[in-house]
Amino acid sequence: MNHQELEHYRKLLLDIRRAIVSEMSNIKSEEEDSTLKDEDGDHSAYPYHMADQGSDSIAQEMNFFFAHRDSRFLYHIDAALDRIEDGTYGICEICQEEISKDRLDVLPHARFCITCKTKEESMKVNQSNSRGNYTAWVNDDIYESY
Ligand SMILES: [Zn+2]
Repeated sequence: MNHQELEHYRKLLLDIRRAIVSEMSNIKSEEEDSTLKDEDGDHSAYPYHMADQGSDSIAQEMNFFFAHRDSRFLYHIDAALDRIEDGTYGICEICQEEISKDRLDVLPHARFCITCKTKEESMKVNQSNSRGNYTAWVNDDIYESY
């Protein structure tokens, strides 16, 4: 991969990085808001508080899940930027072949070529069936981490 192409992907990765960081700070401020609300509210005034609390904790769990997923994604973006620095960017970590540019344009942080990724994916689907509904989001291509 030539210097110009590397610069192209570096810019792409930095744009994604900026978007994730701002998304993560949004989630953080939402959490702060809901904490404030809890402190102000008189819980005994709400007979259905248990139900409210239930949906709140689901919302918090979702925020945690998204924040967690984003920080994992961020880790992979940073790892890809490191690979640009050390000259291993765009090389499949399994077969050492170049990852196609079509794939890198969609997933600039990809570590594996499509052939190796497809093999890995079919293994992961089998492993994750017992882990429930979140798996569908984890496997979402946009947030693919590998
Ligand atoms: Zn490969």
